[in-house]
Amino acid sequence: MTRGILFSNRRLAALLALPVMACLPAACSSNSSDSGSTGDAPAGVHVVSAESKSLVPTFVRGHLSALPTIAAALHADGEFTLKNTITDSSGEIHQRYTQKKNGLDVLGADIAIHVKDGVIYAANGNARTDLVAATTAAVSAKVAALKAVASYALDARVSADAGSDLAYWREPEGDALRLVHRLTVRGVDAEGEIVDTVLVDAQDGTIVDRIPTIMTAKVRKIYDANQSTSRGTLKRSEGEAEVSDGAVNISYDNLGLVYDAYKTLYDRDSLDGNGLTLISSVHAIFRTTTGTTKNNASWDGSQMRYGDGDGTTFSNLANSLDVTGHELTHGVTSSTSNLTYSGQSGGLNEALSDIFGAVVQWYHDGKVVNDSTWMVGDDVYTPNKAGDALRYMSNPTKDGKSIDYAPDYNGQNVHYTSGVPNLAFYLLSQGGKHPRDKTTVTVTGIGIEKAAAVFYRANTTIFTSSTNYAQARTGTEQAAQQLGFTADEVKSVSAAWAAVGVGSAPVAE
Ligand SMILES: [Zn+2]
Repeated sequence: MTRGILFSNRRLAALLALPVMACLPAACSSNSSDSGSTGDAPAGVHVVSAESKSLVPTFVRGHLSALPTIAAALHADGEFTLKNTITDSSGEIHQRYTQKKNGLDVLGADIAIHVKDGVIYAANGNARTDLVAATTAAVSAKVAALKAVASYALDARVSADAGSDLAYWREPEGDALRLVHRLTVRGVDAEGEIVDTVLVDAQDGTIVDRIPTIMTAKVRKIYDANQSTSRGTLKRSEGEAEVSDGAVNISYDNLGLVYDAYKTLYDRDSLDGNGLTLISSVHAIFRTTTGTTKNNASWDGSQMRYGDGDGTTFSNLANSLDVTGHELTHGVTSSTSNLTYSGQSGGLNEALSDIFGAVVQWYHDGKVVNDSTWMVGDDVYTPNKAGDALRYMSNPTKDGKSIDYAPDYNGQNVHYTSGVPNLAFYLLSQGGKHPRDKTTVTVTGIGIEKAAAVFYRANTTIFTSSTNYAQARTGTEQAAQQLGFTADEVKSVSAAWAAVGVGSAPVAE
């Protein structure tokens, strides 16, 4: 099989619009310390990380100015379409491309390329499209919709939108592209509202993946049917004076604090980097099969919604700055890496929201870390009980559900698989060891501000939709290098991941 680049002419034109030039020795010499090329990589390409079984590269650096080199190195033979371009504060350009094969989207096969001084110096992604890929569906869209609906719990009330499209999906490190029907299922179950993207195998009708599009801080099962599920009435706009409703005012203030933290720390202009209006609804309720609940907060892709809480499980969720930071960070993620909200990428998506919820709180607290920094939603969770929280970034299993060690991953809910990257972030910030001695690695902390800069850069410029834990390690290591951190600081990034069971400990010198 040829492994050549198959960008269509139109897509290639988009790529070539980049200010690409030959990689000058001066610009490339810093790459020479990388782990070196594998026999499989084109000349001049240094493989930073690769799939564990196939050894196909997932992160490359070096002489990438010839675009076919990138595709060849990552085993990508599909058509690329530019999805987003981010110019960071140092002037570097980062672009993400989605990929099609046989005219169909290849889910998770996006790549990120990194350009400095007009030179592409790095590229990454799970980009393999050089795999066996069926072209005809044995299962009709109608049958797929029935299968998708039937896959929900008996008490769920759901229906599939009319129409589906075909796409390709790959098991993590799988050796084929599965043809799938991609459809939208809406409704409610006992946990709350459902708007899911469901992937159904087009050959055998099995459910391949279910990807929620509503991202919530927490789902509890305490119900109240008094209030509204709609956006509601505008109460206070930018610059207007306080109103009589305290929840409106505190939400207004918290949105402002999140905006200010992102603007000051990263020069980011709102969630999309382009001044997107921040919208929230307070006194919201959330539908479930048995009624509604006030015990939730959510980001639905366009706005925040906060329930009042029932006073026992939660007080008013609008009062929590870290919950606001959490939900709004989903907006940052969806406009950058767009990490798929299932599997390890989903846990990483959730962790980034917890992490930047903590960062916003730290920023608001005068850049001071305290115990509350590492507790998610502690200010609104069980108001009659002090000292507890929804999640504990410094000791994730304390909630009784989260995992804190990568080998314990087995596809749990994304709110619990966030524990692994959450703990890595905590250890990178504060230093120390695994709280339950799952590993013996000791991490030297670099402080929350630097740790956050690493994770911010990785999320906004390096991670792609299918980034897993191992690739998050590589992505954050590369981000730390790109930020000009010292070798010891980069080593701390490696050690933080090793401490939570992602890869081995960095070698001591
Ligand atoms: Zn979330």
